Amino acid sequence: MARYTDEQCRICRRNGEKLFLKGSRCYTDKCAIVTRNYAPGQHGQGRKKVSNYGLQLREKQKVKRIYGVLETQFRNLYERADKMAGITGENLLSLLERRLDNVVYRMGLASSRKEARQLVGHGHFLLNGHKADIASMTVKPGDVITVKERSKSSAKFKALVENNTKVAPKWLEANLEEMSAKVVANPGREDIDLEIAEHLIIELYSK
Ligand code: SF4
Repeated sequence: MARYTDEQCRICRRNGEKLFLKGSRCYTDKCAIVTRNYAPGQHGQGRKKVSNYGLQLREKQKVKRIYGVLETQFRNLYERADKMAGITGENLLSLLERRLDNVVYRMGLASSRKEARQLVGHGHFLLNGHKADIASMTVKPGDVITVKERSKSSAKFKALVENNTKVAPKWLEANLEEMSAKVVANPGREDIDLEIAEHLIIELYSK
């Protein structure tokens, strides 16, 4: 499976903000945004004016990296969002939030989206009682996500439950003890706790 191999913290430093790509480390003083909040590279500390196009491109790259989505997949999601009723930017974010790997992360069963992607890929989850090992699957209201019985007793999942500090968003009815969650609504814009200027992405793709 194709994936980003960039050093995760460099991506945050390039954007000048925390994108929470590394799990628990992101919440400590070791976070590179805390220790070195300037762009990586030789000229990283110099001031640089960014064009409107640059801002649009940067926002798109940021969102792709937050959710761990590659360009083609991202473009396809935009096309889907554009065909849906409502505001394209909000539809795009809703589709990203409803990816299975993001749902696992939001449930509190992974410390990062990257870890969630790995756990899904390793076949630890069921969607409505059926095997679900594709991270990009989109969930919808009424869907139930559970950890496979065999995986529930593993040290890995016990530790994930014990160490979880996240509260599931209101569109997900999560039961961490049971290691399951039900999607009770589509995520709205107000449910997405990330600083994203989605209009910049739409402007970029609309050219
Ligand atoms: Fe980003 Fe996390 Fe690295 Fe901080 S620790 S720079 S939030 S990936």
